Amino acid sequence: MEKIINIRFLYIFLFFSFSANAQWVKHSFEVMGTLSQVEFWLDDPKTTQGRTPQLGTIGNDNRALALIQLVKQEMIRIDQKMSPYKEKSELSKINREAPHKAVPISVELFDLLNVAQDISILSDGSFDITYASVGYQYDFREKKRPNQTDINQTLPAINYTSVILNDKDNTVYFTNDAVKIDLGGIAKGYAVKRCLSLLAKAGIKHALVSAGGDTGLLGDRHGRPWLVGIKHPRAEYKTAVNIPLENEAISTSGDYERYFIEDGVRYHHIINPKTGDSSRKVMSVSVIGKDPTYVDALSTTIFVKGLSDGLALIEKLPDFEVIIIDNEQRMHYSKGLQQ
Ligand code: ADP
Ligand code: MG
Repeated sequence: MEKIINIRFLYIFLFFSFSANAQWVKHSFEVMGTLSQVEFWLDDPKTTQGRTPQLGTIGNDNRALALIQLVKQEMIRIDQKMSPYKEKSELSKINREAPHKAVPISVELFDLLNVAQDISILSDGSFDITYASVGYQYDFREKKRPNQTDINQTLPAINYTSVILNDKDNTVYFTNDAVKIDLGGIAKGYAVKRCLSLLAKAGIKHALVSAGGDTGLLGDRHGRPWLVGIKHPRAEYKTAVNIPLENEAISTSGDYERYFIEDGVRYHHIINPKTGDSSRKVMSVSVIGKDPTYVDALSTTIFVKGLSDGLALIEKLPDFEVIIIDNEQRMHYSKGLQQ
């Protein structure tokens, strides 16, 4: 870890003076079962007088507040559409109906299912949204997991080729009626991407949007890079490393976010589609690249692949870099990060 920790101190920050009305706006909120954050530079917020606005304390005409709401509403909208826990979500409807018939779905979800399928093909099935066919039997809060008999019964339903996407009429159909899908490995990255694009359209040039371990950046932090921390996988409040980034996205998948330990074995939320069991080859994977959706799905993918296969896959993708923390807590970097 030493090498990269040194990088952390290479950045001696420059201070700039800005007009009195310009400021950073920051807000955190919970959505999609995780903590989200939005931070952006506002050139002239007028009414906020240098303070970070608090929801409910500033008038509706306030631009900072309106932009925060824009981001929040977008995350809520995506959660309502894609959550497997909400009965009324479009995703739940697909899980109910697609085993029986071709279900017409929104263009937005159709496109995201297509991206998920591309990554399944690219990763030879390490990323597979049908992991949920077994995955739904885990409950990490309740320390509940399927036994080997349960897994054996539902494992054949983990197979992305059972999800048939028809682009002539935007429908989805499952060829196996035990299939369930879950977008937990890709939806947060997609939400981050959408929020950044809304902020960009509103004229914002410097912004950070994060949802759990998925972070997307617009521009830099006004003349200096953003510093995005990767959590230490075995010390809750420690940062393993801070990565300086501009105009990029970074997503971390770890075995420490949702897990329980039983008889010394760690059961956590990233499932190896080949076994139906948690993947235990590494502790943490962070992928860096331009597209938040891909970066999110790829961090889950590389986590399942493990160190050598994971590095091999990333080296084939020129637009992405990876930082892997192995089971001995050693850090490994893809070639593009080693210079
Ligand atoms: P987090 O959700 O903590 O940000 P990840 O991006 O790694 O972490 O996503 C983990 C989530 O991805 C799980 O909670 C689950 O919903 C989903 N998932 C687990 N295993 C797989 C897999 N093999 N392929 C696709 N999605 C998966
Ligand atoms: Mg992910």
